[in-house]
Amino acid sequence: MEQTLFLRGQRDVAIRVERKRIRNMYLHVSPGGRVSVSAPLGFTEEEIRRFVLEKSDWINRHVETLSAAEAPVSTYADGEVLSLWGRPLTIRVLPDSKKSFCVTDESVILTLPPSCTEKERTDFVKGQLKQRLLRAIRMRMPYWEQKTGLYARQLRVREMKTRWGSCNTGNAHMTFNLSLIHLAPECLDYVLVHELVHLVHARHNAAFWSTVKRYIPEYARIKNDMNHEQKEHAY
Ligand SMILES: [Zn+2]
Repeated sequence: MEQTLFLRGQRDVAIRVERKRIRNMYLHVSPGGRVSVSAPLGFTEEEIRRFVLEKSDWINRHVETLSAAEAPVSTYADGEVLSLWGRPLTIRVLPDSKKSFCVTDESVILTLPPSCTEKERTDFVKGQLKQRLLRAIRMRMPYWEQKTGLYARQLRVREMKTRWGSCNTGNAHMTFNLSLIHLAPECLDYVLVHELVHLVHARHNAAFWSTVKRYIPEYARIKNDMNHEQKEHAY
């Protein structure tokens, strides 16, 4: 039997619980910061929760170090945690002849043919995430274009290693990092405004930041949160 518990803290940690024929409870943090608990069959959810809470300092410390050390490439396997718009969701993979991607309150349900390879699964999920992010950008951009009076000509999404977005000031083509879909929606708003403002201020100078601040007063805090997140969502 498997379930997921959430440890609320500075940031939420999803903990995978597995019940086994063992006598003691074990905690494990994998490289990349995924947390799992192995619990004896007879233990109640309440007992497991209490155990996890007692160890929460240890967990947070390890998640912090391990996810910063090396975020592994996600393969979107069953039980992995996938954050969508800042919400940690557990991936459930179910066999089906048709591929589908469905988001519920607590999980992302993937149906895939049993013959599906890890590469096919990864490509499928990334394709779905790209579509969703692009749709969100296209829905949100007109709002900021109207507010700023600045307009993008082309919007694209791709995997980017070091930046959240980029703007070609010559032709107003903008590219956004696929990882933005993992972060809270306020981060997307900030990046949209950031790239739009580049159309009038190419460099990150004082004029640039004061224009960004006019539209996103909390930009400094959001930017700081995002630098922290980047380590966790490396592809
Ligand atoms: Zn910039």
